[in-house]
Amino acid sequence: MASIKENITKYREELPEEVCLVAVSKTKPNEDLLAAYEAGQRVFGENKIQEMTDKHEALPKDIEWHMIGHVQSNKVKYMASYVHLIHAVHKLKLLKEINKRAQEHDRVIECLLQVKIAEEDTKYGMDAEEVDKILASEAYQAMKNVKIVGLMGMATLTDDESQIDQEFAFLKKKYDEVAAQNPDFKILSMGMSGDYPIAVKNGSNMVRIGSSIFGARNYN
Ligand SMILES: *Cc1c(COP(=O)(O)O)cnc(C)c1O
Repeated sequence: MASIKENITKYREELPEEVCLVAVSKTKPNEDLLAAYEAGQRVFGENKIQEMTDKHEALPKDIEWHMIGHVQSNKVKYMASYVHLIHAVHKLKLLKEINKRAQEHDRVIECLLQVKIAEEDTKYGMDAEEVDKILASEAYQAMKNVKIVGLMGMATLTDDESQIDQEFAFLKKKYDEVAAQNPDFKILSMGMSGDYPIAVKNGSNMVRIGSSIFGARNYN
């Protein structure tokens, strides 16, 4: 198998320049992240706040840490001092907590709203209409320490590429609609190891790739 370093180099060459590569390092040991770091990778994605915080403390300080997983409000405080982008905000109540904790650190934390585009019930995310409601809400407008800068979505896990294509196209259309009105919008996070070419074709500018950089994850 290719080394982590070779994989990072391969993705950097393959992806269009405007597409940010988030190296998804969940469950992987620090030496694997360092191998990617040595190949020039600076953006890492994790899905557990405790694990991300431990890695943040141990690894070089110029890494940008992205929280890509489902976030529980009571854990926001552990990442508020350093997290670079939160990809999967699923409700207004969570934004309130992020705003409060960011304020304690005198920061503005950038966030994406997760939109449900897959057919599986197990995937989190809001309806597209909810995006407009949150952006227009007085509660959000009053928040000074949180900024919604785009959308994130996960397609259905299926071999049916036309279905994945439709799901990503739907999210891109929603993103463009909002971005036409909202100058803060700059990030459309979609695409993982199995479906990133379809996501990029549909206008993704941030892909989250784990197993095809670091190898399969072992959850035991
Ligand atoms: C784990 C994870 C990824 C990466 O998945 P791979 O298939 O390993 O590339 C991307 N996005 C989210 C939200 C994840 O939890």
